[in-house]
Amino acid sequence: MSNLATPDLDAEKLARLTRELESLTAAQLYWVAAWSAAQAEQAQRSSPVVVAPAGRAAERLTILYGSQTGNAKRIAGQLANRAEAAGLPARLLRADAYPQRELAQERHLLLVISTQGDGEPPDDARGLFEFITGKRVPKLPALQFAVLGLGDSSYPQFCTIGRQLDARLAELGATRLSAFGEADVEIEAVAALWAEQALAELRERLKQVGPPVRATPLHAVPSRSTYSREQPFAAPVLANQRIVARDSARDVRHVELSLEGSGLHYQPGDALGVWPRNPSALVEQWLEVLRLDGAQEVTCQGRTLPLRQWLGCEREVTRLHRGFIAALAAAGGHDELARLLQPEQSPQLAAVLADDQPIDLLRRYPATWQPEALLAALRPLAPRLYSIASSAKAVGEEVHLTVAVVDYQAHGSAHWGTASAFLAAADEDGKVPVFIEPNERFRLPADGSRDIIMIGPGTGVAPFRAFVQERRESGATGRNWLFFGNRHFAGDFLYQVEWQQALKDGSLHRLDLAFSRDSAFSESPHRDVRGVARDSHKVYVQQRLREQGAELYEWLKGGAHLYVCGDSKYMARDVHAALVDVIAAHGNQLPDEAQSWLGELLQQGRYARDVY
Ligand code: NAP
Repeated sequence: MSNLATPDLDAEKLARLTRELESLTAAQLYWVAAWSAAQAEQAQRSSPVVVAPAGRAAERLTILYGSQTGNAKRIAGQLANRAEAAGLPARLLRADAYPQRELAQERHLLLVISTQGDGEPPDDARGLFEFITGKRVPKLPALQFAVLGLGDSSYPQFCTIGRQLDARLAELGATRLSAFGEADVEIEAVAALWAEQALAELRERLKQVGPPVRATPLHAVPSRSTYSREQPFAAPVLANQRIVARDSARDVRHVELSLEGSGLHYQPGDALGVWPRNPSALVEQWLEVLRLDGAQEVTCQGRTLPLRQWLGCEREVTRLHRGFIAALAAAGGHDELARLLQPEQSPQLAAVLADDQPIDLLRRYPATWQPEALLAALRPLAPRLYSIASSAKAVGEEVHLTVAVVDYQAHGSAHWGTASAFLAAADEDGKVPVFIEPNERFRLPADGSRDIIMIGPGTGVAPFRAFVQERRESGATGRNWLFFGNRHFAGDFLYQVEWQQALKDGSLHRLDLAFSRDSAFSESPHRDVRGVARDSHKVYVQQRLREQGAELYEWLKGGAHLYVCGDSKYMARDVHAALVDVIAAHGNQLPDEAQSWLGELLQQGRYARDVY
């Protein structure tokens, strides 16, 4: 292998590959060769744009993206198309496909990266983030760069990953092509402006070093459907069933939608984007508190609609963000509220962002609003993503979702989650505007003989229903192991009958359960705003992982793929810690070694997470 050219393959990867291949027979090697060729073709087909060949660093523009839910990927794809139109040769790469050793030679780099929950990089950019912020990164005096951060200003660590990378690249001696861009849920407008500035500056600078080389055309892959995020498909509702007991404290729905005639296709692991409407009862509460007439026509950004429709269909009204807090403080002259935005008050701000909805602040801090100012202070309504809970091989032109309905009392009034309330209310004659959001990092192994381990508490179990259906339909021979947890066995065992059937028919090989509120647990010192106790004595899936550690480690050592889906804030972090413990204990490794072993699995795509 050492005699062959190995484009974009670093020494470590090459060594690992050589080690793995050495143990194979000739027949197995031929199989690997054919399989790799098919994978490469598949990867090229599923890429939003065909990646241009590398070219010389001095002339080349590299666009990297780190994306958890697909937004950064979409924006980076649009950026690559703009660069092409501007005559700039570009190559577009997901951050984990970027050979880090090339950074030292890179001259022009545009980076689009999101920030997850509590200030984490997306999984596909974890390696790059650690490399750039770590000690081994070279100085980069010849690099010209620009960073666009994506985030959600409902979270305290808004865009922090992008901001850190922007600062770090400058610290390493690189020159900014344009200022750090910060996109909230209104991504497209900010991204377009940022791209325009960065590309204009880049063109200017390239003029000074001579005419640009011929641009390598990037061909958009023709979409098989005319429906997209911007043009969603109105999917008829086929079923909407409560799948928890009548007396369960939470409402969880199994929703079935028809995709017939849409041309939309999905793979297990993908998400369904849903464009919701806000609960009408909440919109009426807003109008009452604001003392505004919902029927009055209001013009905003060139569109005129009744205020009720603006609030119901066009603006985020359930998620609080900094911009709204600032506008409310200014509108009502509330200094105390304005102070909340000062850096020294960030713990208090984080608590407000986590516990309150805008309606709570509107009630607490009265102000006189002009409708136009109100709309300007609110973010546009964004679609919500749900992991698809079905395999098209099993359900044909349908798509199934598992939806936890967010509906609770706080501060003396009813509160809802926008999309879950919308889906819960969708009746069987209704339609839901949807699109497919591919998730290339959350895929079943192409080799059906591999074992898989799935960890999905709560509605995090959704994609694993799709995985098990798919593996059953495709006759995959690998074993399937599910760890599921929820509050009570009696009322909250989602898809209980299906799992029992799957155990019987051999499409599920192991099922480990953790019901957190069936066992006695002590009163927690802390309850969150919805009354959920955070208690260290509860039985969670990670306890089952530890109990089954020896066998779990055996599966992993044997090449099993590992998947986690669900809550990112607590569960994914705690499950990760449990996995480190299991690997350390049963693999005789130090915690640091176990951590990097797991990190490697993440890099290789053998440990994949769908958490938000
Ligand atoms: P949930 O009720 O919040 O939690 C499910 C179970 O997990 C409960 O037994 C809960 O126990 C337990 N749990 C709480 N903290 C935990 C921790 N640190 N580690 C392990 N288990 C823990 O679940 P849900 O409301 O269904 O929400 C699941 C999450 O998945 C949401 O954050 C959602 O955004 C996310 N998600 C959903 C989908 C989807 O398509 N539906 C896809 C991706 C992600 P206690 O409540 O008793 O503490």
